Amino acid sequence: MDLLRYLEQAIGAISEWESSWGEYKRHFSLDVDEALFARALEQYTSRLRNNYPFFHPRYAGQMLKPPHPAAITAYVAAMLINPNNHALDGGPATAAMEKEVVNDLAAMFHLPQPVLGHLTSSGTIANLESLWVSRHLAPDKLIVFNEDAHYTHSRMSEVLRVQTATIPTDSHGRMSLDHLEDTLRTRDVGTVVLTAGTTGPGIVDPISDVLTLRDRYGFRLHVDAAYGGFFSLLAWGESPLLSESVRNDLKAIRHCDSVVVDPHKHGLQPYGCGCVLFSDPEVGRFYKHDSPYTYFTSDELHLGEISLECSRAGASAGALWFTLQLLPLKPDDGLGLVLGAGLRAAANWAMRIEESTELALYLRPDLDILTFVPRLENARSSTVDELSGLLFEKAMSDEQDPIFLSVLRVAGERLAPILPGLEVDRSPVRILRSVLMKPEHELYVDHLHERISGVARDLLASRGGG
Ligand SMILES: *Cc1c(COP(=O)(O)O)cnc(C)c1O
Repeated sequence: MDLLRYLEQAIGAISEWESSWGEYKRHFSLDVDEALFARALEQYTSRLRNNYPFFHPRYAGQMLKPPHPAAITAYVAAMLINPNNHALDGGPATAAMEKEVVNDLAAMFHLPQPVLGHLTSSGTIANLESLWVSRHLAPDKLIVFNEDAHYTHSRMSEVLRVQTATIPTDSHGRMSLDHLEDTLRTRDVGTVVLTAGTTGPGIVDPISDVLTLRDRYGFRLHVDAAYGGFFSLLAWGESPLLSESVRNDLKAIRHCDSVVVDPHKHGLQPYGCGCVLFSDPEVGRFYKHDSPYTYFTSDELHLGEISLECSRAGASAGALWFTLQLLPLKPDDGLGLVLGAGLRAAANWAMRIEESTELALYLRPDLDILTFVPRLENARSSTVDELSGLLFEKAMSDEQDPIFLSVLRVAGERLAPILPGLEVDRSPVRILRSVLMKPEHELYVDHLHERISGVARDLLASRGGG
C-alpha cells in the first residue's frame, strides 16, 4: 500500500483548502533550521527503532499493531486542521463524522436506536463513564466483575469510591454463573460488568445467561467489549469461526445497558480511539454542565455535553470514519475479513498445540488470543513458571529468527486440569500468551508453531526429563 501516495493526495487537498483563505505571512519564530531538522529527525527515527516489530507477524505478543494506512492518511489530513471534538465549533466536520461512526458502531451491536454514545480517548475512559453512570443510578450498590476483567474496573471503582466484588471464573475462564448468582442472592448488586474478550486469555463472558439473571434479580449490565466488540460483526453474520455460544453471547450485547469498544484495538485505528454506548439516552442527564467557554454555534447536542473528557482529537473520528468507508463493518467483507483471518490463525495454532508433545493449551480460544504452557507432567508450578519465562526470553532473543510472545500470570490451581500431576508450590504462574490480531498471522502460524515448539523442545530436553 502506497502510504506516501495517499499522504500526498491528502495533504494536497488540505493545502488547496488552506490557500483558498488568502495569502498571509508565516511568522519567522516558527521557522526551523534545515540541517538541524535533518539531524534531529535522524536521532528521532533511530530512537524509534527501540521498539518491537509490531507490524510483523513474528510479533505475536500483546494487543499491538500499526493502524491501517487509510486511517493514518485520514488522521494526518484532519490533524493539519486539528479540530477538537469537544464542541461543534471546535470541529463541525469531524463532530458530524463522530456521530455517524457512533451510529455505525451501535448498529454493529444491533443496539435499538436511538443510543447515546461518543468516542473517548481510550477504553479506560469509556469504562469509567459507564461505571460513573452506574454510581449515579445506584450510589450504594456493588459493582461486580470477573476475576479476569481488566484491572481498570477495580481501579476506576476506587476512583469513583464504589464498592466492588470479583466473581471467580469457571474452568473455561468465563464468569462463574453459580458464584454470580450467590452474590446476587446475598448482596446488593447494582451493576454486573461482563467482558467480551478478556484482556488476558480473550474469553467471552456468558452474556446471554446473565441476561436471564438480570430478569430475576434486576441490575445494570455493562459489557466491556474493548477488545472483542468488533467480533460481533462475525457473530451477527453467523460465522462458523466463532462457537455457537460465543456468537449468542456477542449477539446478546444488544440487550445490555452499556457497552465499550476500542476502535484502537480491532478497528485499525491509532491510539486515542475508544467508544462508549448507552442504550438509554436518558442517562445523558448526568453529564449536564454549563461551560462558559464553549457551545456558541448551534442548539444541537454537543459531544462535549455528553462526555467527561473535554478536548479530544477530531482526527480520531475522521480516521475511523474514513477507514470504515474502505473497510466496512461487514462480516464477509472489510473488517470482517481482517477479523476472520485472526480467528483462523488462533484456531489453527490451538489445534497444533493440542497435538504437540512440547506445548499444552491453557484455554481453548474464544477469539484470536492463545494461551499455552510447556507440556510437563508431575511437575511443580514453579517449574512451569520458570520454563514459561525462559521460553518467552529465548524465543525473543534469537538473532536470526526472533518470535515475540507475551506472558500472562494465572493462579497455579488453574493449570491443574491441563498438566497432570501438577504440584502447586508457586502461584501465580507465568504462562505464554499470543495475540493473533494481524491478518498476516493466518499465513505465519505454521512458522510460529515450529519455532515455539522447537524452543520448548530444547528447554524440556535440557531439563533432562526431571
Ligand atoms: C484494552 C482494554 C481496556 C482498556 O482500554 P484502553 O483503551 O487500553 O484504555 C479495558 N478493557 C478491556 C477488556 C481491554 O481489552
